[in-house]
Amino acid sequence: MVDILIVGAGPAGLSAAVNAVTRGKTVRIFSNKENYLSKAERVDNHLGFYNISGKELMNKFKEHAEAMNIKIEEGKVVNILPMGESFMVNINGEIEEAKKVILAMGISKVKELPGEGRLLGIGVSYCATCDGMLYRGKNAIVWDQSKEALEEANYLSSIGVNVTFVSKRLRSGELNESIKYINGTISEVVGSSKVEAVVIGEGNVPADAVFMLRDAVAPTALIEGLETEGNFIAVNKNMETNIEGVYASGDITGKPLQLSKAVSEGLIAAQHAALQIDKIKEN
Ligand SMILES: Cc1cc2nc3c(=O)[nH]c(=O)nc-3n(C[C@H](O)[C@H](O)[C@H](O)COP(=O)(O)OP(=O)(O)OC[C@H]3O[C@@H](n4cnc5c(N)ncnc54)[C@H](O)[C@@H]3O)c2cc1C
Repeated sequence: MVDILIVGAGPAGLSAAVNAVTRGKTVRIFSNKENYLSKAERVDNHLGFYNISGKELMNKFKEHAEAMNIKIEEGKVVNILPMGESFMVNINGEIEEAKKVILAMGISKVKELPGEGRLLGIGVSYCATCDGMLYRGKNAIVWDQSKEALEEANYLSSIGVNVTFVSKRLRSGELNESIKYINGTISEVVGSSKVEAVVIGEGNVPADAVFMLRDAVAPTALIEGLETEGNFIAVNKNMETNIEGVYASGDITGKPLQLSKAVSEGLIAAQHAALQIDKIKEN
């Protein structure tokens, strides 16, 4: 079990990691792709740095973390399950137990579809390698929303799942010939106690499962019952969410969407989480 698991290795996540390690805590930090800051041509408003590119600054943050033996691991966190005193975190099929979790996923561009959260785990999946085997011989939809979707559709087909690939793009020559293809987008997941169909355009397409292979997961789908304010996660001044032991920091908690705010919130979350872990140890 790790003390603190951090979702996202942007400025907020890395700051949380550095501060957790400074407080003597064990940390695992996961990120699934390049972060926002790397896209900034020039940053002038982060104290101590003037006229620096976002990429350069991000490299400095990573070097800082690595110098403190923090390993930034590539992986998309797809589910967080509260287990009383700890959390079971699913990172693309790998399960890690953590005492505290810090969400630092950046601004969320992902909105849950109607039916998605309710049917998560009973047909809705974010990870082909985690859940694919459950649907051998059954009908699954793969929704193309990331560059990995095609590869994952081929993987599902190779293990015996009857795959239909739904995409806004033209059919790729790399898609296995046996995979059916629908040009379109999904607007709803339908089913009562499990997935029964997805809505595409005006019609229902029957399915036992739908793999939503996006780069990101909507925060509310990541962990059940997470309170939001508009598009952001609601937090108190310790960066605690409404779920005890789960913190949030950075762009994901709201405006201003700025680097220095992300770094300070990462610090606050990590220090408070570390303090709570120490309190439990003392008792
Ligand atoms: C073009 C541009 C210019 C900017 N210029 C400035 C500037 O000059 N000054 C300034 O202060 N700010 C600037 N910003 C804003 C700044 O980049 C953000 O405020 C900052 O990056 C927020 O940090 P964060 O850690 O909260 O999120 P992010 O930097 O977005 O990092 C979040 C990370 O989490 C990862 N992630 C998401 N979901 C998951 C998941 N389920 N599992 C694993 N990982 C996940 C993402 O892939 C990402 O790597 C700029 C932004 C842009 C786009």
